[in-house]
Amino acid sequence: MYSQVNYKEPAPIMNKENPFESMMERFDTAANKLGLDEGIYNYLKSPVKQVITSVPIIMDDGSIDVFEGYRVIHNDILGPSKGGIRYAPDVSLDEMKALAAWMTWKCAIVNIPFGGAKGGIKCDPAKLSLHELERLTRRFTANLLDVFGPERDIPAPDMNTNEQTMAWIMDTYSMHSKRTVTGVVTGKPMILGGSQGRREATGRGVMIVSTAALQKLGIKSNDAVAVVQGFGNVGSVAAQLLYEQGVKVIGLSDVNGAIYNSKGFNLPEVIDYVEKNKSLAKFPNAEVISNEELLELECDLLVPAAKEDQIRSKNAGRLKCKIIAEGANGPTTAKADPILQEKGILVIPDILANAGGVTVSYFEWVQDRMGFFWTLNRVNTRLERMMHEAFVNVYKTAAKYDVPLRIGAYILAIDKVARTLKIRGIYA
Ligand code: NAD
Repeated sequence: MYSQVNYKEPAPIMNKENPFESMMERFDTAANKLGLDEGIYNYLKSPVKQVITSVPIIMDDGSIDVFEGYRVIHNDILGPSKGGIRYAPDVSLDEMKALAAWMTWKCAIVNIPFGGAKGGIKCDPAKLSLHELERLTRRFTANLLDVFGPERDIPAPDMNTNEQTMAWIMDTYSMHSKRTVTGVVTGKPMILGGSQGRREATGRGVMIVSTAALQKLGIKSNDAVAVVQGFGNVGSVAAQLLYEQGVKVIGLSDVNGAIYNSKGFNLPEVIDYVEKNKSLAKFPNAEVISNEELLELECDLLVPAAKEDQIRSKNAGRLKCKIIAEGANGPTTAKADPILQEKGILVIPDILANAGGVTVSYFEWVQDRMGFFWTLNRVNTRLERMMHEAFVNVYKTAAKYDVPLRIGAYILAIDKVARTLKIRGIYA
């Protein structure tokens, strides 16, 4: 009855930039350009709430184990806070703080009435049984009953959590509320009030902003060549939708390695192959290359859609693409940014490029509250309009302040939250 949570390898901790420092570096640059008031700067850099909670559970062998859980609400000025829950051994408060702040900026950029949050449990999900994962999720939810809520703070799936995890959170919250509260989480199964198009939303958003950027550079989709790193939820959908736009996808990769074909891949065939073989590695008629080589292929569009810290000061100088659309969160380190800028590579930052997921999460929340569900066509049309508007607004802001799109995106977001804060005022 339950689907097993897929365990994914945690990112290596070594060589990882401190994500909060990396976020703050970009935040500081944008705040300076914007001439942000010092008081508001201090307000926005501090999360409004940081919860660390002990999550004890009875293991299958009858022993008691205690895990550490976190929920950070970075900001709730624009509305209830929104952000995923991840289960991994290297979950830390610093990581949660960075990811929560990114959610605040992401929601502001796509103009949805949410603040930013992130949560997680430090655990090794590969070592937990399905029933242990259920008890862990339900106890974590019970500990956070006064934090979560459809009007307060709305979790979603993230690394090593899925639709089933959201169903457990929703059920636990509902049991305590004595009624079914579907709007307390997003990324739910369709049968529990999930939305059409949610699974593909992030990859679809990546495709929308990528084609908009190609257009800005005067490159027709039919003439464009792309490389996509990562073939999971985001990468495979982005690659498929780019292919449907006529883009030639010459390089693909997953955790097992990368493949190259100068003539371009037939994406439906690749997707079919991966469904059957669980990996791209031995896809026929393709040259096997390393993940490092993949990133350095000559192309118009590079989509890093695997994990953080892939484009670093060490390899940024060797990239030969014209556009980078950051499907993953934090795939480019702060130190690589100036190198890419120097090379004239147009970087569509993560907080814009992968915001399609939270946008359709917003649609899911709206549909749950209305109790009225939209067609796939309505979801996709609205997503397209909102992502396109966000791209245009970030582009205009970057041009106005003469900064790269990443800083433009931060300026747009910080300005929106700061103006809202000024109008609301500080309650004392
Ligand atoms: P996923 O687990 O479905 O897919 C990740 C893919 O990356 C897999 O194909 C995996 O094999 C591959 N991979 C892992 N390590 C790799 C490596 N070293 N080199 C090459 N490939 C590697 O995850 P996802 O949901 O597609 O998320 C990918 C990224 O996008 C993450 O950074 C995530 O935070 C971000 N993101 C996801 C969503 C969403 O809605 N799923 C939304 C916003 C951001």
